Amino acid sequence: MQKTMKAAVVSEFGAPLRIDELPVPTPGAGELLVEVMACGVCHTDLHAAEGDWPVKPAPPFVPGHETAGRVVGIGPNVDGYKIGDAVGIAWLHDACGKCEYCITGWETLCPSQRNSGYSVNGGFAQYAIASAAYAGRLPGDVDFASIAPIICAGVTTYKGIKETQAQPGQWIAISGLGGLGHIAVQYAKAMGLRVIGLDIAADKLALARSLGADATFDASSPDAIAQVIDATGGGAHGVLVTAVSRPAFSQALQYVRRGGTVALNGLPPGDFPTPIFDVVLKRITIRGSIVGTRYDLSQAIAFAVQGKVKANIHTAALDDVNDVFDQLKAGKVDGRVVLDLTKARTQKTRSHADDRYATV
Ligand SMILES: [Zn+2]
Ligand SMILES: [Zn+2]
Repeated sequence: MQKTMKAAVVSEFGAPLRIDELPVPTPGAGELLVEVMACGVCHTDLHAAEGDWPVKPAPPFVPGHETAGRVVGIGPNVDGYKIGDAVGIAWLHDACGKCEYCITGWETLCPSQRNSGYSVNGGFAQYAIASAAYAGRLPGDVDFASIAPIICAGVTTYKGIKETQAQPGQWIAISGLGGLGHIAVQYAKAMGLRVIGLDIAADKLALARSLGADATFDASSPDAIAQVIDATGGGAHGVLVTAVSRPAFSQALQYVRRGGTVALNGLPPGDFPTPIFDVVLKRITIRGSIVGTRYDLSQAIAFAVQGKVKANIHTAALDDVNDVFDQLKAGKVDGRVVLDLTKARTQKTRSHADDRYATV
């Protein structure tokens, strides 16, 4: 009898996800079968389920790219893994390994990359497939729900901060202090930067201060730009924009220091005006930053394992995924929601627990 698993499935764009029984996948060459313990819910999962982006996934598919779990099956041609190892499966599911981007340590730009929860089924399921060469290694005693957001939100902001090229002792402004931003504040402090937090919500500003931000300002205030310039003695050396509102992008170009870099993580639809004169005369760099490489991921995980970065999480059962999406759409999530797959299993499929390794 084929073993099945519970999964949240996008059957058509814009429709609620369906909780289905799917066959447990079989790991192919170079692949691992992972029993999912926890999977964070990212805005990208919403965009995937709605079919918002120009390159669309093909329903039916399983979203989820902040997957943390244990190896329960190992395909052919895999070295260095054993049953029971703890791993993370990130947005970068795998890449070609041969193109100019892959061979120069920029596998995140590989045109042939495949993405978890998008072009490959993701972690909103009891089991998921990882590519052994691209999985993130986690310590055996890791807290899966706590580490899950690090696998996307963590590595994305960590890489974004590196991309600003701000050096220890210098100022970084983090614009947007939600799911990404509250993690970014902690990475920036752990990396020795001085941190300004900007948001329009007072509770998010307070959270940033409690996480170590040196100063926070209300981004909707007409004085916000002057306040950042004043507090930093001439502007922030680096700016990381995680906000999903376009005015935040224009604002960043005005409070970045001369010679500074504005790195963009947030993905609101549309464009923002770029003042050419300022960008040229102040030698401002505007740089997109997308997730992180395998090396970035290992570093991002190391900060979290040392307790220097901790996502503010709430857990939910897999069956509640549509409620979680509604909360995300309404902007009601502070921090990150993580689907706890052990919760779903306990409630609904406990009777399968004993034979869950049967097919591997
Ligand atoms: Zn994500
Ligand atoms: Zn490639």
